[in-house]
Amino acid sequence: MSKETVEVVKLYQHNTLGALMSGLYEGSLTIGELLQHGDLGIGTLEDIDGELVVLNGKAYQARSDNSIVELKPTDKVPYAAVVPHHPEVIFKQRIAVTDEELKERMEGYFDGENLFRSFKIHGIFPKMHVRMVPKQERPYNKSFAEVAENQPEYTAENVTGTIVGIWTPEMFHGVSVAGYHLHFISDDHSFGGHVLDFVMETGIVEIGAVDQLDQHFPVQDRKYLFAKLDIEALKEDINASE
Ligand SMILES: [Zn+2]
Repeated sequence: MSKETVEVVKLYQHNTLGALMSGLYEGSLTIGELLQHGDLGIGTLEDIDGELVVLNGKAYQARSDNSIVELKPTDKVPYAAVVPHHPEVIFKQRIAVTDEELKERMEGYFDGENLFRSFKIHGIFPKMHVRMVPKQERPYNKSFAEVAENQPEYTAENVTGTIVGIWTPEMFHGVSVAGYHLHFISDDHSFGGHVLDFVMETGIVEIGAVDQLDQHFPVQDRKYLFAKLDIEALKEDINASE
């Protein structure tokens, strides 16, 4: 049997979106460790300081002041999901589409709705609308839902770059956000963030397979261990803020 047929693609998720939403913003995994588990992904940084973009094995931070920096191996994340991106469908989008139209086309290639998927979409975007979660000071006194109400948003016009992200099945809502979670970074690393909506003129779309979820927990974080999570409230917060 060739290596190709036995390869299992594992989505590695550190912590859960639910824990992040409940105010656990301390970093609990280093970027160096995270990148051992995947070359593409999303997340946020310690103190929810902006949006994490992992592209081609490198990690970037899209900050709320609209700047981008490449992260160091010692920087930390409270929540992230990465995967060794393994495209099983690649297509060229030749005519302009909105984000909704592109999602509909991509979903045409899904085998059902019960598997995670990864995305890498490189294109020319007449419009790219993103937001970045703003850094919180300690002691944290705002819930994620409160922070989410006042997030800086930016729109770039005619930007070339890459969308990376994950699609989560409905049954994992709470562990992650059901549906799409997409982040963007421009080719020149001058613009990026959590994707809200866009128009893509042309692009190459890669849809990756995920065979397995590797759910990692912050096992030495006392705050996580003993947090009392209100799951129904968390799901509502995730719906409202993601
Ligand atoms: Zn995000």
